[in-house]
Amino acid sequence: MRYAETGYNLEVDLSRGNIERVATDPGLTEKHLGGNGTAAKMIWDRVPPEADAFSPDNLLIFSAGLLVGTPVPGCNRTMVDTISPQTNFFSHSIFGGYFGPELKHAGYDKIVIRGKAPDLVYLWINNDKVEIRDASHLKGKGTQETAALIREELKDPRIQVAAIGLAGENRLFMASIEHCNAAAARGVGVIMGDKRLKAIAVRGTKDFYVANPEELFKLCLRHSQDMQASPFVGDLMAIEWNDAFHHDNFSWGNVRVRRKGYWTQEIEDKFKDYTLKIRDRLQGCYNCPKNCHLVVKPPGRQRYMLKCYGKATWHMAAFKEIDFTFDILALSQEYGVDSYAMPQAIAYAIELYEAGILTDKDLPDFPAESGDRFYYLLEKIVRREGIGDILANGLYRAARQIGNGAEAYEHNTIKKFEQVPVKLGKVNYPYYLMYCTSDKMAINQTEGSYPQDPIADLVERKKFADEWLSAPERFRRYFMEWEPRTNPSVEASINICDWNETMHYVDDATGLCAFCSSFRGQFGGATAYHIYNIPTFINLATGMNIDADDLWQIARRNRNLVRAINVSRGLRRADEKPPEDHWKVREPEKEQELLDEYYKFKGWTNDGIPSKATLDKLGLDYVAEEFIKRGILTGSEDNCYTETPCYEGKNKEEIEQFSSLRKSSEFTLTEYLHKNK
Ligand code: SF4
Repeated sequence: MRYAETGYNLEVDLSRGNIERVATDPGLTEKHLGGNGTAAKMIWDRVPPEADAFSPDNLLIFSAGLLVGTPVPGCNRTMVDTISPQTNFFSHSIFGGYFGPELKHAGYDKIVIRGKAPDLVYLWINNDKVEIRDASHLKGKGTQETAALIREELKDPRIQVAAIGLAGENRLFMASIEHCNAAAARGVGVIMGDKRLKAIAVRGTKDFYVANPEELFKLCLRHSQDMQASPFVGDLMAIEWNDAFHHDNFSWGNVRVRRKGYWTQEIEDKFKDYTLKIRDRLQGCYNCPKNCHLVVKPPGRQRYMLKCYGKATWHMAAFKEIDFTFDILALSQEYGVDSYAMPQAIAYAIELYEAGILTDKDLPDFPAESGDRFYYLLEKIVRREGIGDILANGLYRAARQIGNGAEAYEHNTIKKFEQVPVKLGKVNYPYYLMYCTSDKMAINQTEGSYPQDPIADLVERKKFADEWLSAPERFRRYFMEWEPRTNPSVEASINICDWNETMHYVDDATGLCAFCSSFRGQFGGATAYHIYNIPTFINLATGMNIDADDLWQIARRNRNLVRAINVSRGLRRADEKPPEDHWKVREPEKEQELLDEYYKFKGWTNDGIPSKATLDKLGLDYVAEEFIKRGILTGSEDNCYTETPCYEGKNKEEIEQFSSLRKSSEFTLTEYLHKNK
């Protein structure tokens, strides 16, 4: 009997029109859990490094995380993994909503897509009945429109749909896959479009099992109530009116201008009034007591949902007000574009025009007003018309194709991929490491478990550290030792980077929402899920018997496997750098020392390649063999990763028992940020 997972994947070959239900190996669950862990294993096994993103051999894998669909609250993430055309590396994306749980109830843990359909199709999964259906009537349709049409056609409003819009159909490198207004960003929609797959529709009514239902339900009911009461869970941006954090600290335009002091009470009142005027309701994801999604209906547009920093990216790139974002998001979500990357691409083109690198010949009838320019360029890029065809391949490639000095304006990519527009003063050691060494495409898939700054008031800081139950002891020490306006030590920075990335790998294997787990650790206390209590949920759901150290080891294995995929595709130390002008003040020697020490800590060579000793110890000996065969390793590298015990300074029994959530009704993000000033 398989618990928590269904034990089956759906394998679809679009070239041949072949569909298979394939039993999976339970041994892989023990080694990788599920989600992006088992997806990485598949990509390692089946997508050769020579196959590029547009090869029919590239896989597009939709994984419901291991605990998705079980009673574990806030566990509903679908991971989408593939090879990205932008980086030629592993691409990892996530969406919330309802799709993953529905897929589990249809009887599958993953949908594995290979090949390319000759014409536009959609996949209809109705429990055991699975069909590849013609989608010619959906060509050019928006993402929500597509979902509505499919539900109508199949006569079931409960069908969950993940779809691409025009952007994916036209193979934009920054195309998203949209489900229920939750987006799988990082450009995975380009692969769905390349495979000529317009949408996946799923309806599931079957049961699957958990190992210890009575205990799990009891625990989850209590936990769900605690989560609802806790201010340490969920995405605060949906409910807090003060957004000084993003508006004052992140960069506007083409990641150029910081507008410190922009956010005033007057702006906040305007922002609140407008949002309330168009707000329909707040809504949450499957089996989550929180409501992080803001449902809005701007004038003349369809109703849609948005969340988090996506609420600000468009108007900040265009130097406009919040109503601009609400309006253009309605359009861009229908087109299915990444709301981080696309505003940057447009702001970049405007900068090139203002610098005379792009001219009226490239941009005929280009409007004078910034907002109008955004609509103009959005249409050009989504339709791949004129200059839009070049910008559609991402800024790194566009800059090189445009030439004539355009490269100098492309200044916010890492490993050829657009980054979140955070640009600050002085190099920040943990962030330097996270930006450089992450094998995921963006910083927000890596950061979040450790505070970004020390709290200046020592009494407050001590209170924070004392209440910070979810961190191994050394992190409390690092936090107490950290002087404001300085960096943590090299040792602390390496550990912080390692911890941040590992917690995301835990979430991405189990399907936990980062707003209940990894991303919320930075606010201290104890978020709903952390390294000490997640094993209890896994054990009750699956029948496994793991503790925090075992879970850490699994996440470490998954992290090294993803790195191995990228190393096999050519990733080396030379690729590991933040955007050139990300910080005004850089420390080149210290940066190299940080990389040296981080690689040693991870058990990697000085070129960032996991050593044979590390791979063998993680049960990835088959990777080591392949690396030796390919001349990537000699086999004599003996550097092995540093053990990082989770229970250090903690009583194992006590820590697993503690009530995991703080319930301070006073806590707000604003209050936290003020404390941190
Ligand atoms: S915390 Fe918010 S984003 Fe996360 S699962 Fe719950 S409703 Fe969704």
